[in-house]
Amino acid sequence: MHTKTIAELAAGLRDKAFSSEELTRETLARIRQHNEATNSFITVSDELALAQAREADRKLAAGEAGPLTGIPIAQKDIFCTDGVLTTCGSRMLENFIAPYDATVIRRFGQAGAVMVGKTNMDEFAMGSSNETSYYGPVRNPWDLDSVPGGSSGGSAAAVAALMVPGATGTDTGGSIRQPAALCGITGLKPTYGRVSRYGMIAFASSLDQAGPLARTAEDAALMLNAMAGFDERDSTSIEREVPDYSAELNRDLQGLKIGLPKEYFSEGLDDAVARVIEAAIDEYRKLGAEVVEISLPNSNLAVPVYYVVAPAECSSNLSRFDGVRFGHRCEDPRDLEDLYKRSRGEGFGAEVKRRIMIGTYALSAGYYDAYYLKAQKIRHLISDDFRQAFDKVDVIMGPTSPGTAFKLGEKTDDPITMYLSDIYTIAVNLAGLPGMSVPAGQVNGLPVGLQIIGNYFDESRLLNVAHRFQQVTDHHRQIPSGFA
Ligand code: GLN
Repeated sequence: MHTKTIAELAAGLRDKAFSSEELTRETLARIRQHNEATNSFITVSDELALAQAREADRKLAAGEAGPLTGIPIAQKDIFCTDGVLTTCGSRMLENFIAPYDATVIRRFGQAGAVMVGKTNMDEFAMGSSNETSYYGPVRNPWDLDSVPGGSSGGSAAAVAALMVPGATGTDTGGSIRQPAALCGITGLKPTYGRVSRYGMIAFASSLDQAGPLARTAEDAALMLNAMAGFDERDSTSIEREVPDYSAELNRDLQGLKIGLPKEYFSEGLDDAVARVIEAAIDEYRKLGAEVVEISLPNSNLAVPVYYVVAPAECSSNLSRFDGVRFGHRCEDPRDLEDLYKRSRGEGFGAEVKRRIMIGTYALSAGYYDAYYLKAQKIRHLISDDFRQAFDKVDVIMGPTSPGTAFKLGEKTDDPITMYLSDIYTIAVNLAGLPGMSVPAGQVNGLPVGLQIIGNYFDESRLLNVAHRFQQVTDHHRQIPSGFA
């Protein structure tokens, strides 16, 4: 059963080939079997999952089921879950049990999905390798000595290892697309505002967006159908009709205009990765697409701009974790100041502290104009680059990441090299656009992801473009050895 996609499992449940309880028991067993190797899960919610599965079986029997009813889904541990531990990968929230569900969790619940557990992640979603988690690094199923990417690495590894058919992620600068690429699965970051951020622990509020990780675009569409939509509890959520993302998957690609930004194929990109991407573009030519070169002239400024804006917002968002309102509290504080200092000093890891310090600095009087305001202005230029490109093309394609999965520890001492892992993904968040990563091939046995960037609210088109590719290729069907 574990090799089946969400769409196939949904058909099996409908046809009564198996029950959700059987499927859930098998999924939980599979998680137990492989979690030691990958460390994908921080929490496995056995009891809740079985209760939800029995409820799903009742709905299936009553003919009240939707496509996700009874399907096991893993949730990134950044979403608040009523009654189930939510750590955000941090010691700060080691004992935090939220009193409510995030909107994303609630929507999966309404769709009848079964939550099997909470996945490991970089601490407060800060990282590109899943090595900043307080709960230990996640290992890439394709090579257990390599990273799965981050920050949604637990989710990506869980899907790649066939522990679950689908999982959620969040993407502030690439954290859905980059781990999807490095683990050989499909991931979608929606347009900013498409999915509610309510109950999703904030990292950088103007950039954070939740989305699906699955094996196929067809499955990502099914998950996005449940996740997307206006939420009055999130003031940045957008009131706009949600299309049926499954409806347009088969649209013909004849005449589709693909833009290849020349900046995404230059220095810094691994040659072998470039060849995989070029071969994928050739597939699209065969499918009838027209390919043109475009330019995103401010691309080189995306990483520096992000590392002002994201730390600035995180320094503000993370001020709530002070040992009083939220989070870890130190033992025997001498006074209030000692309590703040030691609680935060003990609760946060090194990368989170680095970001809080950079952000606080960038926002301080005298530096605000020089850093934060300047970064916001360049952010506009980056968005304008995309706006102009989308006057000419329907989608933009390129690599998701400049290389394949790197070894654990390889980049931990060099934050700048680590930050450059997201060189092709970050601009998309700064502009608020939707982006996807789709398996496109391998280099030395490690997966390569093709990134597809769309115009605002063009998720249907992205899914369509990805799905057609998956109908003529089998990169998304590859399974890491040891996890078959
Ligand atoms: N790797 C980037 C960072 O460390 C992006 C993380 C994310 O998208 N959450 O901030």
